[in-house]
Amino acid sequence: MKLSKMHLKTLREVPNEAEIPSHILLLRGGMIRKLVSGVYGFMPLGYRSLRKIENIVREEMDKSGGQEILMSAIQPAELWQESGRWFAYGPEMWRLNDRHNREFCLGPTHEEIFTDIVRNEVTSYRQLPINLYQIQTKYRDEARPRFGLMRSREFIMKDAYSFDKDEAGLDESYKTMYETYERIFTRCGITYRAVEADTGAIGGSNSHEFTALSEVGESEIAHCTSCSMAATTERAEVKDTVSDSSEELLPMEKVFTPETKTIEDVSKFLGIEQKDTIKALLFITYDDEGNEKEYVAAFIRGDRELNETKLVNALGIHEHSIEFADEDKIAATTGAVGGFTGPMGLTNCKVVVDSELVGLKNLCSGANEKDYHFKNVNFDRDYKADLIVDIKTLTEEDPCPICGSEIKLARGIEVGQVFKLGTKYSEAMGAYYKDENQQDKPVVMGCYGIGVSRTLAAVVEQNHDENGIVFPMSVAPYHAVITVVKVKDEEQMKLAEELYNNLLSKGVEVILDDRDERVGVKFKDRDLLGIPVQITVGKGAVEGKVEFKLRREDSKEEISFEEAINRTKELVEKEK
Ligand code: ATP
Ligand code: MG
Repeated sequence: MKLSKMHLKTLREVPNEAEIPSHILLLRGGMIRKLVSGVYGFMPLGYRSLRKIENIVREEMDKSGGQEILMSAIQPAELWQESGRWFAYGPEMWRLNDRHNREFCLGPTHEEIFTDIVRNEVTSYRQLPINLYQIQTKYRDEARPRFGLMRSREFIMKDAYSFDKDEAGLDESYKTMYETYERIFTRCGITYRAVEADTGAIGGSNSHEFTALSEVGESEIAHCTSCSMAATTERAEVKDTVSDSSEELLPMEKVFTPETKTIEDVSKFLGIEQKDTIKALLFITYDDEGNEKEYVAAFIRGDRELNETKLVNALGIHEHSIEFADEDKIAATTGAVGGFTGPMGLTNCKVVVDSELVGLKNLCSGANEKDYHFKNVNFDRDYKADLIVDIKTLTEEDPCPICGSEIKLARGIEVGQVFKLGTKYSEAMGAYYKDENQQDKPVVMGCYGIGVSRTLAAVVEQNHDENGIVFPMSVAPYHAVITVVKVKDEEQMKLAEELYNNLLSKGVEVILDDRDERVGVKFKDRDLLGIPVQITVGKGAVEGKVEFKLRREDSKEEISFEEAINRTKELVEKEK
């Protein structure tokens, strides 16, 4: 492609709303364009990169026995009512009605649709196993769309669904997909970790998230420095600390603690450590019709953070069926007092106690009375629980829950997730097959997603410098760019054209920057766009010499026209 003919608009300025490098660079490079919040279009270069990723995904999925299909984005409500997710999916689902007032949604995911295909078309064990997948546009009305392609409301996903006769078959399918994902992300040039994950709204028993390591990522993951434990912090178990067995239970004591509404205040006031206090968090939960269901008071060690995913799982409710309660508003019913809430004497609310509090002695908690706390509070003797469960978030101070060694936390971008669904959907929706003995059995399912557009953002996030994107060859919109220093110089233009045609004939995807622009502008643009091989045709053209440089390296070399062709070809062959 000749740049003088390409529809390309790069920006000098950083767009206002863009906060992270991938978002800034994709907008500045004119690769994506925003329509409204969380909705983006792909321009020529961005679309080429997106298709490169799609093709890597497609090749690897096909190699693993996946069969590509394409389903509609529009889905009827009835299928979701059958699976029980029409409500469960919550406000993220983009719902719409047709002219007859029939309800539909724009698919946020496709478990129901694929289960429907299989229940209608698979009747015998002879037809199993199968793996069907698609690369298609998904819709989620995210509460906080941000970071460009990273969390958008319309995005491209590869979603695959496996259907097996039994659990052993599912284990096999899951393993195949896991390994396929390893190949896909490696080929995309992504540094990732596969970690155990929560199953969220998708459901099922077992799941792994593929996380591209990045400081700006929204996922937090933990891994052990000595064993193989690796999990999202949402999911990671936390070992309970316990008090010294020799420590005696002291008598409870009510203390005047004026204006000490936070854990920090009260621990300072009493001269105790935050870990010797109990933190209270109050919630309201809602039923499937959206009516208030119950109040929940959750208690954890004062210096800990609550893990809301664990709480929601323990309560057996949906993520969107719970919100923080105003302590003052619920005071009359429950006896909680804003800033002074403790686990003793609460009424009309479910008391959830973090498992760690059971083994800790002589803690300080709110007294459910303004300006008062209790010292020496002990579980069982002084307060009870409706539910005792691990609801705390793992920190680097905690030991590995498996082997006790040191753990490390890291941030990352969730680029893919694989789930063992089991028979959740096949039983709910009646997807049965006849086995060898003519018995009806539910199909055993797995599902496997990759955020294709989010992966493009992750590639850029991990591969850039202060001048722009540094695309890996496999995902770059073009392999090479030829920059002509002076387009009015016939010698230079002639050599550049020859180089361009030669590379094209060898299957190299190449751009010729033949724009009549200052060379400085052209250099800035080519760095911004991150094309891996940069060839400059300038004064040396008279002797058939060009300047050869890789975007990812600092050094450049003056080499012959022929050598430039050979080197480019070799590099593309090796890395594309
Ligand atoms: P997240 O936790 O980031 O909201 P999720 O766990 O809800 O994602 P899945 O249902 O597992 O997402 O979807 C499969 C893949 O689709 C994810 O691994 C992610 O890469 C991608 N994805 C999900 N939501 C978005 C979004 N809003 N924008 C872009 N990609 C997304
Ligand atoms: Mg996920």
